[in-house]
Amino acid sequence: MQLTQESRAIRVRVAASPLQVDRQGGLVPTDMERARKADLLTLPPGVDGTNCGNCVFVRSLKGKRHSYCVHKEVDMPVNNRECCKHWFAKGAIRHFEG
Ligand code: SF4
Repeated sequence: MQLTQESRAIRVRVAASPLQVDRQGGLVPTDMERARKADLLTLPPGVDGTNCGNCVFVRSLKGKRHSYCVHKEVDMPVNNRECCKHWFAKGAIRHFEG
């Protein structure tokens, strides 16, 4: 199997990141400054809606319970209990963009 440059870079960064899960199932961010700028948060219990698991910037990781966000302003492991201000999915409508 040939790895793309993106997946190779992700594997290196994930391997270097010891991950902790918070009390609501989200990952504790591996970079607090990027998390703050992106407003990366863990959703409250019972709230799903928009989350990392249904965002265009998430990449699943084979054999891992978490995923990886490739948005340049996040660039860290995430899971579907989290969301940030950069969330997007095909079909979303921004009425203010005309
Ligand atoms: S852009 Fe935000 S919502 Fe989307 S996967 Fe990354 S952290 Fe999650």
